[in-house]
Amino acid sequence: MIKADLHFHSLYSDGELSLFELVQMAHQNEVQLLALTDHDVIDGYPEFIHLAKEHGISVCAGIECSVSWFSQELHLVGLGVDIHHPRLLTYLDVQKDKRFHRARQIAHRLESIGFHDCFEKVCLLAGHQNISRTHFAKLLVQEYRVRNTQSAFKDYLGQRGAAYVASQWVNLSETIAVIRATGGLAVLAHPLHYSLTTAQLKGLIQAFKEAGGEGLEIVSGFQTPKDTKRVAQFCLQYHLWASTGSDFHRIAPYRAGLGQQNALPETLRPIWQHEAFQSSVQLLE
Ligand code: AMP
Ligand code: MN
Ligand code: MN
Ligand code: MN
Repeated sequence: MIKADLHFHSLYSDGELSLFELVQMAHQNEVQLLALTDHDVIDGYPEFIHLAKEHGISVCAGIECSVSWFSQELHLVGLGVDIHHPRLLTYLDVQKDKRFHRARQIAHRLESIGFHDCFEKVCLLAGHQNISRTHFAKLLVQEYRVRNTQSAFKDYLGQRGAAYVASQWVNLSETIAVIRATGGLAVLAHPLHYSLTTAQLKGLIQAFKEAGGEGLEIVSGFQTPKDTKRVAQFCLQYHLWASTGSDFHRIAPYRAGLGQQNALPETLRPIWQHEAFQSSVQLLE
């Protein structure tokens, strides 16, 4: 099976490495196929395609979309999207606007708790205005002496945190429609990260599939064989294509580097064998 990583982040969202560093790491780790999937942004393309080409690595254009599904926040990975498609660009503008306003609201709450000048500082830290909660967490740790990232999420940014702002992202069916209309395949990212019961998760996968979703992220970074088996069973049950990624953000102990996530079970159909995926990779070559 080829070595692929179809989910990771760069400086253009909440990752800490540049495109150059990411491609170097992929090359060192002998990865053959990559999809950069920044949160709600594709600004890393086409420079990323150019860099990967120089190292002989195949690329599929990707994105990780934030989605609202009832009160639940989900992530969908779009693979093989046309990065110039007007419908994708309109969608990105909408999400960018939502993200920017949410960042202002989070900053406002943090400021009312006593963390002053949060908004200016978080923009400086990120180097762009595509602000993620990861940037706020980093700011809280670096500038305001919060103990660590976990505490920053637990006490301030997570669902029960003091500065939590519920996001209102584009909904599930509209997001899948955008991915499909722009030539891509929609993949439900890290299905075990949503704290859902098995019945709820099955309901989600059913709704995802009915809306036109085609893939399930079977492997996300380092995970237990038991988790892999659990997601693989959903994949077989719902006849979905299998995806895999490190969800790499930064070099950290016990975290998978590019292409170092656990192996995809051989019994599943890897999504890069899908016709739409193959033609999108060829388009970029
Ligand atoms: P956002 O898209 O701005 O809501 O931020 C979500 C990102 O925050 C995720 O993609 C993760 O990278 C990060 N994140 C979420 N929860 C945690 C957590 N408990 N600890 C560390 N990072 C987290
Ligand atoms: Mn992230
Ligand atoms: Mn995610
Ligand atoms: Mn991710």
